[in-house]
Amino acid sequence: MSRFKFLIALALLHSFAGAFAAPATPDQPQVVLKGTVSGDQNHKFIMLPFTVPAGVHRLTVDIHYTDREKQTVLNTEISDPIRFRGTSGSNKNHFTISESDATPSFLPGAIPAGTWTLTFGVSNIRQGMTSSYEADIRFDSRMDDSSFTDRPLETSDRWYRGDLHMHTAHSDGTCASQSGRMVPCPVFSTAEAAAKRGLDFIAVTDHNATAQSNSLRELQPYFDRLLFIPGREVTTMAGHTNLFGSTRYLDYRVGDSAVPDINALARQAQSLGGILSINHADSPGGEICRGCRWEPDPPVDMHLIAAIEVINGGDGEGYFPSFNFWQKQLEAGYRPTAIGGSDNHRSDWPMQKTGSVGSPTTVVYASELSVAAILDGIRSGHVFIDLTGSTDRILELHAADSNGTAAMGDVLAAKDGEDLRISIHALHCSADRVRLLLDGNIPIATGTEILGSSDQTVTSVWKSDGKRHWIVAEIEDQTGALDLLGNPVYLNF
Ligand SMILES: [Zn+2]
Ligand SMILES: [Zn+2]
Repeated sequence: MSRFKFLIALALLHSFAGAFAAPATPDQPQVVLKGTVSGDQNHKFIMLPFTVPAGVHRLTVDIHYTDREKQTVLNTEISDPIRFRGTSGSNKNHFTISESDATPSFLPGAIPAGTWTLTFGVSNIRQGMTSSYEADIRFDSRMDDSSFTDRPLETSDRWYRGDLHMHTAHSDGTCASQSGRMVPCPVFSTAEAAAKRGLDFIAVTDHNATAQSNSLRELQPYFDRLLFIPGREVTTMAGHTNLFGSTRYLDYRVGDSAVPDINALARQAQSLGGILSINHADSPGGEICRGCRWEPDPPVDMHLIAAIEVINGGDGEGYFPSFNFWQKQLEAGYRPTAIGGSDNHRSDWPMQKTGSVGSPTTVVYASELSVAAILDGIRSGHVFIDLTGSTDRILELHAADSNGTAAMGDVLAAKDGEDLRISIHALHCSADRVRLLLDGNIPIATGTEILGSSDQTVTSVWKSDGKRHWIVAEIEDQTGALDLLGNPVYLNF
């Protein structure tokens, strides 16, 4: 291929990838069932037994067959060694069954070892025709364990808005029923509230639960502009932490023999491919709020923690911040990302209340709208918190010196005596106050106090002393209430 043709081919590949979001690469199948079906098998059943080894948590099946355009139609059914697990007729070619969730048509539950049977009901094949089929079966598919969709909902790199902490009927979330009684609130109600709020992603984080995953797997195709991130609030006797990115069971019984301390739990969470965020760490503990304060003993190894919920939705009348705990971690040299979470327990609360769905909103810069990309954005600190829950406010912070440019969440080396050029970009914050802070509490002058325009960049220069520091940008309203809180640019960390 000539270089010119190669470039055209490459350009076409790029435009194709842009137009149709490519699915994440699936793992290799452990079982492949292949064969042919002929005209004299019309209306018969083809039983295909296969072995599932012990210790499998999820089974994922992909069905392919030829001659659909010639009216070959195979219905799919699957049974485990004990019971029927579902049939999708001919309408689903990809389905997954796990301990917590299954594609609609199929039953979630234990995945027993032994002989399972995939059955094709030959709904139609023409006389004289021979069609080929293949069923690819994967055990513990990473893709289906960590996401409810096999492709990004959107492929542009931009800021995405979400709520990372909410409760439903699968723990203690309630809402008014048709007749006005308070009832355990269905996941649909929370998802609908988030969609109405214009959010791009949510994590339903019921207490220690994975049961919500089954509803989310059903709802994700319907909510095709609202990404569901697998989540739960790991609720221990000495603190709460959200686990994002896994549907698998996590033993939360810290102090029991299998989980001797919080670090054993955190390592297990990491092995599931998830990330942990410490919730409402500065909460009162004791009998005022049992287990709410973060006080595990021994303390957690902060290398295992990706984020801290610095702004919790609170009680409806005001936010509950955890600045003290966050500040201590930064002073100790860790860089956990500051995030927010409504901790919503009432999906029908109006948006004026703190703790309603999307109050606060966590805004993440990500390469696409997928679970992997949003979690990467959180890990790298490219995040600000919008306490107003707006749909359009943006806060960006950059610092530059001879070593390069850093955005919020990034680390920059800054030599003693070197001038740091800092810029804050704020969208839709006119008449608000902008604040630049060193190490959480020392103001850095910017020359601009009140933002005069809805798209404004404010700059400053600060001379480095070569030591470890962090710089944060905040936007306040005219009463001094915090509207937007950015993550730091870290110097010499
Ligand atoms: Zn909690
Ligand atoms: Zn909660």
